[in-house]
Amino acid sequence: MFAMMEASRLEELHLAQDPATGLKAVIAIHSTRLGPALGGCRYLSYPDEQSAIRDAIGLAKSMSYKAALAGLEQGGGKSVLIRPAHVANRGALFEAFGRMIESLGGRYITAVDSGTSSADMDCIAQHTNHVTSTTRGGDPSPHTAMGVFAGIRATALARLGSDDLTGLRVAIQGLGHVGYALAEQLHAVGAELLVSDLDAGRVQLAVEQLGAQAVPSESLLATPCDILAPCGLGGILDAETVQQLRCSAVAGAANTQLASAEVADTLQDRGILYAPDYVINSGGLIYVALQHRGASLATITAHLTKISERLTEIYAHAEAEKRSPARVADSLAERLLYGR
Ligand code: NAD
Repeated sequence: MFAMMEASRLEELHLAQDPATGLKAVIAIHSTRLGPALGGCRYLSYPDEQSAIRDAIGLAKSMSYKAALAGLEQGGGKSVLIRPAHVANRGALFEAFGRMIESLGGRYITAVDSGTSSADMDCIAQHTNHVTSTTRGGDPSPHTAMGVFAGIRATALARLGSDDLTGLRVAIQGLGHVGYALAEQLHAVGAELLVSDLDAGRVQLAVEQLGAQAVPSESLLATPCDILAPCGLGGILDAETVQQLRCSAVAGAANTQLASAEVADTLQDRGILYAPDYVINSGGLIYVALQHRGASLATITAHLTKISERLTEIYAHAEAEKRSPARVADSLAERLLYGR
């Protein structure tokens, strides 16, 4: 366990159980160097406890990198609640988790993630203030979409020489909370949209409302376009799918888009500019972090401009060093976190 913590440079790992409610919780605090650790709470079933702990540690580390590059005074953390086969009282389980968070004295702040909702955060909030994205807090997705939109502009400028998106062909995979809001913004500036979603209703809406062209899910990655914007699930680019791409750049909201670090190098070799996912999709984190600190909407919106500034900085380094932007982003985050 300590070897795993050391390899990820994880500061703290907390485990707690509460047989009365069925709570089995892991909280991984990766770094508090830049501020309290902030990161979502997953509520999922896992094949074994080790997998839950590994998931929490890996995700906590990526939250530290994301917060550092977003210019937030915030560290990275993540929590995982192992979902029991049956739960008698979901609210009581999340309240027990709220008491666990409170016992950490503010070193960890939680938020919505896979398998949890704002209503769950409300239960946590009954016992601690160290929680964001409650029903009062609002949905961070529009802010994520705003950040991705600005990031696409920065990416177009770096790769195609202009940030004018008029007539640019953008292929969006996934028209959920973020993808659809992004499609609306791109449509408003005259971009040409090619869209896919597993939900045919979402695609139909984009065709009717935004004049988008529907593309079958299985052929979206291979569709010729200027920018591919993955906004569905993670892990979509692997050694095989990366060879199918016919775009100039990849810039979208999905988390962990690359199945491995080597895929970033293949993208680089193929001349496809990659916007590191945890940089371009940090608008939601910026929203919850600053809202938790009581910032105004104007302050939050102004902070979102840091996303395109950071991407432009990363692309300049990548160009000068002939390295993938993904590797440059990791190095920059490590410099901010560890001063090297
Ligand atoms: P969502 O669940 O609302 O939407 C995802 C959409 O993608 C769904 O409509 C789903 O049908 C579709 N989809 C999934 N796999 C697909 C495939 N193979 N082909 C086509 N469509 C597919 O999720 P969301 O909140 O919009 O988030 C989208 C992505 O962005 C996720 O990876 C998420 O982790 C990431 N992200 C979201 C936020 C946020 O603020 N919501 C912040 C940072 C990162």
